[in-house]
Amino acid sequence: MSTAKEILKKTEQTLAAAGIEDPEFEAGVLLEDIGGQSPAAIQLAPEAEMPTEKAAAVEAAAKRRSEGYPLQYIIGSWDFYGRRFACGEGVLIPRAETELLCECVIKYFAKRPAPRIVDLCSGTGCIAITLAKEIPRAKVTAVELYDGACEYLQRNNAAFGGCISAVQGDALVPFGEFDCVVSNPPYVAAAEMPTLQREVLAEPETSLLGGEDGLDFYRAIAKNWYDHIASGGFIAFEIGETQGRAVEAILKENGYYGISVWEDYSGLDRIVTAMKH
Ligand code: GLN
Repeated sequence: MSTAKEILKKTEQTLAAAGIEDPEFEAGVLLEDIGGQSPAAIQLAPEAEMPTEKAAAVEAAAKRRSEGYPLQYIIGSWDFYGRRFACGEGVLIPRAETELLCECVIKYFAKRPAPRIVDLCSGTGCIAITLAKEIPRAKVTAVELYDGACEYLQRNNAAFGGCISAVQGDALVPFGEFDCVVSNPPYVAAAEMPTLQREVLAEPETSLLGGEDGLDFYRAIAKNWYDHIASGGFIAFEIGETQGRAVEAILKENGYYGISVWEDYSGLDRIVTAMKH
């Protein structure tokens, strides 16, 4: 048997050799999630051994990761806004930038309690569930089309006490009346698809590709849902970093006002919000 410390070192070396950007962080995640021993615990007990089958599982995971398979799919979950969401093949991985989309919505409804919110192209449900948990008495509906993603949506909803209502259906076909439409839709332009990182290409194309110019979902959602947003309501999108002006124009054309483009922590345009009269 080897010590966990030795396996941590070896895992780090494997990931570094494969060109993984932050091998120390990722090795730590694999040791903790697959090996059951966190880097902090290892530091406190450097002589502690790791059972052979756990060590083998960590080694297999490091090999998979080295081939460009996403870390989040390997461990089967990822943290978002302080909560852990199940994810895996067939669903978009929760991303840190998307937390900002949630923040915009949470702020808007800080003094407007009990909003009815619909999250379109919900995927894991990380946006919908975060909003349901963070906004007092929010009533959140999540819409997702694809079977593979719906499985994760249901699973996450169950893990968080069924706090949202999850609907399988087409996000472009509107229903009901809401105070907020929120969406991180597929927004990658067709020509950019082949340039994506191999990790991103492991995610479903249906969660990434937003048509020829990447803007198909913004056009359709802004137009189709307008009549289903209550007066004084709010719409919030995550966008690709080059799409701020274009999405602003789409919202304007469709009658929304008070349009704002917000930057993410890297200073890139990432969120567009607007209101309805
Ligand atoms: N942010 C994703 C990327 O890395 C795109 C996700 C999406 O299309 N909503 O390309």
